Amino acid sequence: MMSYQDTYQRSITDPASFWEPLAEELRWFRKWDRLLDDSNAPFYRWFVGGQTNLCYNAVDRHALGKRRGQAALIWESPEANQSRTFTYFELYREVNRLAGILRDMGVSKGDRVLIYMPMVPEAVIGMLACVRIGAIHSVVFGGFSVDALANRIDDAQPVAVLAAEAGLRKGSPVKLKEMLDGALTKATVGSVKHVLVLNRGIVPYEMQDGRDLDWQEQITKQGSPLVDPVPMESTDPSYILYTSGTTGKPKGVVRDTGGHMVALYASMSQIYNVGDGDVFWSTSDIGWVVGHSYIVYGPLLKGVPTIMYEGRPDYPDPGVWWRVIEKYGVTCVFSAPTALRGLRKFPDRWMKQSDISSLRLFFTAGEPLDEPSYQWASDALGVPIIDHYWQTESGWSMLANSVGLEQLPLKPGSPTKPAVGHRLQVVDEDGNPVPKGKKGFLVEQGPLPPGMLLTLWNDEQRYLNDYWRYFKNKSLYLTGDYAIEDEDGYFWLLGRADEVLNIAGHRIGTRELEEVISAHPAIAEVSVIGIRDELKGEAGLVVAVLQDRIAASETDMIAGEIRQLVRERIGAIATPHAVRFVNALPKTRSGKIMRRVIRAAYQGDHIGDLSTIEDGATVDMVRESVKKMREQF
Ligand code: AMP
Repeated sequence: MMSYQDTYQRSITDPASFWEPLAEELRWFRKWDRLLDDSNAPFYRWFVGGQTNLCYNAVDRHALGKRRGQAALIWESPEANQSRTFTYFELYREVNRLAGILRDMGVSKGDRVLIYMPMVPEAVIGMLACVRIGAIHSVVFGGFSVDALANRIDDAQPVAVLAAEAGLRKGSPVKLKEMLDGALTKATVGSVKHVLVLNRGIVPYEMQDGRDLDWQEQITKQGSPLVDPVPMESTDPSYILYTSGTTGKPKGVVRDTGGHMVALYASMSQIYNVGDGDVFWSTSDIGWVVGHSYIVYGPLLKGVPTIMYEGRPDYPDPGVWWRVIEKYGVTCVFSAPTALRGLRKFPDRWMKQSDISSLRLFFTAGEPLDEPSYQWASDALGVPIIDHYWQTESGWSMLANSVGLEQLPLKPGSPTKPAVGHRLQVVDEDGNPVPKGKKGFLVEQGPLPPGMLLTLWNDEQRYLNDYWRYFKNKSLYLTGDYAIEDEDGYFWLLGRADEVLNIAGHRIGTRELEEVISAHPAIAEVSVIGIRDELKGEAGLVVAVLQDRIAASETDMIAGEIRQLVRERIGAIATPHAVRFVNALPKTRSGKIMRRVIRAAYQGDHIGDLSTIEDGATVDMVRESVKKMREQF
């Protein structure tokens, strides 16, 4: 085994000797001419001139080789009370069929295909079929609803949509087709020619003549075609995935083909330490980046079985996850601290009912791993609990304990050290490194390693502005997080440096919420603040000023309507924790809302920490505002 330090150093000082042998383990239709083109930095391009196909490498390479009969995709759905296993060859056949359907629907290389589906195998087959023919998929989380979906349709302008009529949430239907119809009416672009609808037999729904096609009917019509994988430039986009930023408009993170493929493939052994004989389970959803990378592409590229789970950790009972581990002999789990916080509430007997001795490693990401959850999981599972840090933009680890290289000593609460190829630093407002032990902005120096975002869809300026132009005289990639690097070179994350919420490990922009809520006719002004939440890590607090004419007796009703509005427009995940009405929002002299004042007043925090409040507010002003807010809460 290579030591972490040597391997990391080599990845930085001699990237060719590090990345090229890994890339050579995969299949290229044409070899790259240049490993890295940084001539147009900060737009970095990897394996330039190389041609490959993600689907070929994730599916055909195994299906037509020695893994043909081995499990590839294992679908386990406590929601539907069903499970299904696809071998690599079966997956290959299904992907070819769907690729044939897409082709017949007129989808071709470079076209966008939106996927709005629950956690069913057809969604993964859909993603793979898209990249097979060079179409760019844009998966929208099934928990997002009409507005969020319409925004993404307008931005990506897909020619086709893959959908199911419904998902299931603790046994209740989530009417996806109905929301999709609403979003397609609302979207302004009218780019969608066809919607392919999977009928799960959960709810009735409408089909629009000429536009909507039935999934099963099309499969039957297709027979068993073989659709050649389209050779793609390494630098061609493979997918767009939207994430929240500081404005109301979500940003479409664009991923390349070759660099992303090599990075994910390498991470499976170097970070997750899995290979032949392992069974990998990422408990995320394909609507998030973790699902893209570690339910779909990473494990399949590596040729290990991947579990796709439709359900929750505690439904139908809190023993369900442990039964899945036992049933499939899962060796490596990738989950989130929120899930651990949820599960540790239940008695250990739920875990003890299953034999989970196959488990070797348990990873978490998405939010800080709190000490009590770490301790509980570590004791109860008896395996290393590995925290790692990354984001939609990176597609894979930025900080990790790369146990496949060398397991470094665990420091609970720290995602350890930079992953190979990542040059992370903690800097001050001017972009200068701060001393060890001091808080600052977590940034990354270019060149960014393979797999990191290419750009933002249709918005190169925003890519430059949001990520590279925060510091006046320095070009550094801004992660958006605060961090500390300690004396041992371990990093500690201290939360977002922008006003983006992290609810149960998922980024939700406060501006998105504020825009939806201000549309309510009773609201004059609104601010959404992130507050601590025991289960989800963070939750949204809505603080609003009502229009003058509104009577006090109406506030409960309005609070209920606001919650409903957020659920309908954005999705249940963004539902505010609390809604409070105040006479005025506390502002600085220049009119900036003092969010930290609101947060401190609500949480009862000590106000001493607020003395450095931005924008010229005096300590007295802050003290007075906190007092006023507290009276109103
Ligand atoms: P997303 O792009 O939705 O995956 O969110 C990424 C953000 O989640 C990061 O920028 C961090 O704010 C947070 N995050 C991810 N992983 C961790 C971690 N291990 N510890 C602390 N925060 C994390």
